[in-house]
Amino acid sequence: MKNKNKIIVANWKMNGSEDLMKEFSQLTCSKHNDIIICPPFTLLDSAKTLLPNFVKIGAQNCGAEDKGAFTGEISASMLREKSVSYVLIGHSERRTLFNETNNIIFKKVEAAIKSELTPIVCIGETLSEKEANKTLQVLDNQINGSVAKIEPHEQVIVAYEPVWAIGTGLTPDENEIKEAHLYIKTKLNQHFNADIPILYGGSANSKNCSQIISIENVGGLLVGGASLKKNDFRAICNC
Ligand code: PEP
Repeated sequence: MKNKNKIIVANWKMNGSEDLMKEFSQLTCSKHNDIIICPPFTLLDSAKTLLPNFVKIGAQNCGAEDKGAFTGEISASMLREKSVSYVLIGHSERRTLFNETNNIIFKKVEAAIKSELTPIVCIGETLSEKEANKTLQVLDNQINGSVAKIEPHEQVIVAYEPVWAIGTGLTPDENEIKEAHLYIKTKLNQHFNADIPILYGGSANSKNCSQIISIENVGGLLVGGASLKKNDFRAICNC
């Protein structure tokens, strides 16, 4: 994605159904934003058939390996066969509930790139790390452990998601978002040949989306809860 369109990503998590996908077949967007919906694996086929053409399809995870005895895993190349173009990697729920380390995350990023998927790598601090003034240190560590190991010419998207803002209704103030995004941008610029889009995620909704998306260096939004309601998500797509 070389353009300067804002990128709006829906993370449905372990939610959604065929009925919800049918509702989203009516989704409209009048702005030049790039819209990506990441449903659960089981809805990828319906996403391809039902979603309007302007919507690109993403997955929420992929295996670190390409194939073999990894019961329950789905590889990046399998996702590619399902018309998936993007994959979320390192979401905080994967890091905490499924013990994904920077090392595992980097292997998944490599697997995604090898299968021509664009990884959307999630980074962000917990509340205790924020309170200990360690936000930038955490971001530094997460970037060094995953994104900064990618070849400089590769395409990647980074999502800054403060863990304490995910699903809580809390959001950082404008200056906090500005500071984190500037820090990430400066660091990524030292490594990559092109501008890497940096999304904000964490309790973004139809009311706060316009304000957040206009903050300097915010390239778009990663939306969880509010992406499950068609009207709310349409408002976010149009912000
Ligand atoms: C997320 O899970 O990536 C997320 C941003 O969730 P929410 O919008 O519900 O905070």
